Amino acid sequence: MSFTAIALAACSQSPKGEAPWIVDRFDDIKVIRYEVPGFDELPLEEKELVYYLAEAAKCGRDIFFDQNCPVNLPVRRTLETIYENYAGDRTTPEWKALEKYLKKVWFANGIHHHYSNDKFVPEFTEQYFLDVCESIPVECFGELTGMIGVVSNAIFNPAMYQTRLNQKAGEDLLWTSSSNYYRNVRQAEAEKFYADMAAADAGNPEPASYGLNSQLVKEEKTGRIYERVWKVGGMYSPAIERIVYWLEKAQAVAKEPQKSNIAALVSYYKTGDLKEFDRYNIGWVKDTVSNVDFINGFIEDYGDPLGRKAAWEGNVNFMDKEACHRTEVISDNAQWFEDHSPVAEAYRKPVVKGVSAKVITVAMLGGDCYPSTPIGINLPNADWIRKEYGSKSVTIDNITYAYDMAAHGNGFNEEFVLRAEDRERMDKYGKLADDLHTDLHECLGHGSGQLAPGVKGGELKSYGSTLEEARADLFGLYYLGDPKLVELGLVPSFDVAKAGYAKYILNGMMTQLARVELGKNVEESHMRNRKLIAEWCYERGKADNVIEVVKENGKTYVVVNDFEKLRGLFGEMLREVQRIKSEGDYEAGHKLVEQYAVVVDPALHKEVRDRYYALGIEPYGGFVNPEFELVEQDGKIVDVKVSYPANYVEQMLGYSKDYSFLPNVN
Ligand code: ZN
Repeated sequence: MSFTAIALAACSQSPKGEAPWIVDRFDDIKVIRYEVPGFDELPLEEKELVYYLAEAAKCGRDIFFDQNCPVNLPVRRTLETIYENYAGDRTTPEWKALEKYLKKVWFANGIHHHYSNDKFVPEFTEQYFLDVCESIPVECFGELTGMIGVVSNAIFNPAMYQTRLNQKAGEDLLWTSSSNYYRNVRQAEAEKFYADMAAADAGNPEPASYGLNSQLVKEEKTGRIYERVWKVGGMYSPAIERIVYWLEKAQAVAKEPQKSNIAALVSYYKTGDLKEFDRYNIGWVKDTVSNVDFINGFIEDYGDPLGRKAAWEGNVNFMDKEACHRTEVISDNAQWFEDHSPVAEAYRKPVVKGVSAKVITVAMLGGDCYPSTPIGINLPNADWIRKEYGSKSVTIDNITYAYDMAAHGNGFNEEFVLRAEDRERMDKYGKLADDLHTDLHECLGHGSGQLAPGVKGGELKSYGSTLEEARADLFGLYYLGDPKLVELGLVPSFDVAKAGYAKYILNGMMTQLARVELGKNVEESHMRNRKLIAEWCYERGKADNVIEVVKENGKTYVVVNDFEKLRGLFGEMLREVQRIKSEGDYEAGHKLVEQYAVVVDPALHKEVRDRYYALGIEPYGGFVNPEFELVEQDGKIVDVKVSYPANYVEQMLGYSKDYSFLPNVN
């Protein structure tokens, strides 16, 4: 499972005299670079380990392209051949449109949008495409020569490969999805195939994730249905062999228990045996000592309409010691926070255990994690392993930092934050406030409090998740402004809370509405929770003018006038929301959510959307990777250097040249 960034409002210190954070922008995409702080300080053997694992993370890129659609590799390679060999005019609108299309194909790992799954609509004509191909010496195309027709049809025929992932109930989801997980197989046939497989293994408390690492194929002539397993000697073998090559290098420098885990993963890649994958996952979950960690394999199944086949991904990372220190301090003081919470004593936990969330620094992204990547990871996915052995949950700090840096100067704060003092505080402390609020929410908020005797939980029904998020958010907001945080050395002053509060209220009352379609109310529970808190505090603080709605030059602004009083309101509300949960008071919960969290003022909604979209901020972001280079002396590795290339096109062309191991048709 992975969680994705929502970065509507963000701000931080501006980089002075450094390379820009945004390295490319096209269509609805911005490409950002990220840095790997702490890499230079790693011991040599860990640097080497990162290097080998990073190589392994890059070798599966073609697999993911092919998984997304069977024509993706020939389309990408044809366009790359054109891009590198076209001698004609590169300033015409049609050429620019072709270049943009290629950038989108790289970003999405195929011809479908990475988020909406719809096929891209080219803004250049088929005739132009064919003319350009014609103008390039035929030998440049090599094996692609006979595929130009297929490629052209894939790009320009709107009836072909319409969507990568169709989830409309009632339709044959496999027949109508263009991903390459099933070939010539109807949905009912695939479902029966795997139902039979599961039935043959019924009662096994440790069921394998059937179908995870294979394409399911129906033979035209005989009707026989079988799996083509992704392994050495199987489908995608040329790429998997390279992955194994680098994993074995990594294994040689890794220490136990990681050494044995890598061996289990290599064995899985060599045999395709899903039991080996489970063995690897169990070892991986139990390993909490290795500083360098990684993901490499067929992991997430969101791309398969049946939720079975997994996309290939790679991620290499190491512990962010400083950020982990932050969550450790919070966790170590969990009892103090619980004891001093404004919640009624009966609903506080007498003995509380904080959770120490791990924060990591990413060093390489690959496959399903590149260029678009989640900001958190929670694995493994197999239910029985999670139940038996737990899971590892981490957040990725250098990626959120890069998002934050990239958002700086996008005009958002200038448009929506009325007062200069608020903008300055948000610039200075916005990221720290966000991080701490998340830490308090995750490490303490959800785990705090207790139910009254006889209450089982679940009484709040459909309002449960909104109120639960509100409870954890309020815990975080209340303590973000507590002098205890200064005492613990986590913040320099109350100014951090001021930055966080101003941003939270603005987002809850106004700016998050930019993500809601016009005419709709707020549905998503995290968004409802933010609206609930902001609107409740606005109304409760009206007499004291704690939060003010200001109209200026025809624009609406939300301003916090009294941060101390606002903190008091967070405390009051936390007490009430905890009471509702502890007593299972459905009526009160229902009233609270319906009154404050759902209904949108249509005029304000339209205004927010108009102002937000006028800023031209690209809604999606992705990343270019750093580069690692071995430094050798007398045939011995003495160091590994990291650098930060800032050219999206060069990185993509380079990867296609150096890490492309699969044939056009697989
Ligand atoms: Zn939560």
